[in-house]
Amino acid sequence: MTRRTFNITRRRALMGAAALPLTAATTSPAFAAAEMMGIATTRFNRVKLGSFEVTTLLAGTRTVPNPQSIFGMNATPEEFAEVSAAANLPTDKAQFFFTPTVVNTGEKLVLFDTGLNAGGISGALKAAGYEPEQIDTVVITHMHGDHIGGLNDEGIPTFVNADYVTGETEFDAWDTAANEGFEAKMRPLAEQTTMIKGGASVTSGITAVEAFGHTPGHMAYMLESDGQQMLLAVDFANHYVWSLAYPDWEVKFDRDKAQAAATRRKLLSMMAADKIPFVGYHMPFPGMGYVETRGDGFHFVASSYQQLMD
Ligand SMILES: [Zn+2]
Repeated sequence: MTRRTFNITRRRALMGAAALPLTAATTSPAFAAAEMMGIATTRFNRVKLGSFEVTTLLAGTRTVPNPQSIFGMNATPEEFAEVSAAANLPTDKAQFFFTPTVVNTGEKLVLFDTGLNAGGISGALKAAGYEPEQIDTVVITHMHGDHIGGLNDEGIPTFVNADYVTGETEFDAWDTAANEGFEAKMRPLAEQTTMIKGGASVTSGITAVEAFGHTPGHMAYMLESDGQQMLLAVDFANHYVWSLAYPDWEVKFDRDKAQAAATRRKLLSMMAADKIPFVGYHMPFPGMGYVETRGDGFHFVASSYQQLMD
């Protein structure tokens, strides 16, 4: 009897000990329970380039299904799947980022592109400590909707004190195209906009670089301060793996696919050779990194702390 009691007690004690965490979890009130809050990321990232401050702004992000309908249109599904798997990327969806950049040269606050809408760019600017009215110059790199969308909100200008700069070739191409977005966002600013060509400077240390192909007059911008360079490369390559590893893979949004591929190879070769960091408007936020050659293509290496040191 004694022995049996002991056995039962011992067994209960063992079972009870094993069961304790579960019992506690289900019967005690969870004072520290946190709500699920959803995916979150920072909205801005500010670095130094010489004496410039360069802030990338997350003006929007979205998940897009079936990425091979956009990237690698001329690759086989097997090749696309293989390249994606090697980079730990799914093939059924991709995440798109929309990343305008604001540069404080010490004399001017220059914003490059404006995201999908006024709310997105204003919110990201405010998160980074700027007000839209502080922007001195808005540079429009090209006139796709995700770059000009934030210029106004149903006709009300977002950047009330700014002047505007864009590429002459780009403006002229859209001028004749009767595009709704262009008419709503860019046309009203024509009088206030300075049209420039490749090689022209926006302000001291900011130079336009022709990167045609994505659109007829798409331009990148080279930043240079105290001997340091960074390329705001914008949409010359829109995916950090698919566009860099395979510059010749065709992209739905590239107007002239052969010219876009040639531009990709030219800029990627230059950045790899000269070790120039770049910001890609659609690269994973904060969108900043370096280019290495790999095989016949290139490889994206995200910036770590290279631009985060005084
Ligand atoms: Zn874009």
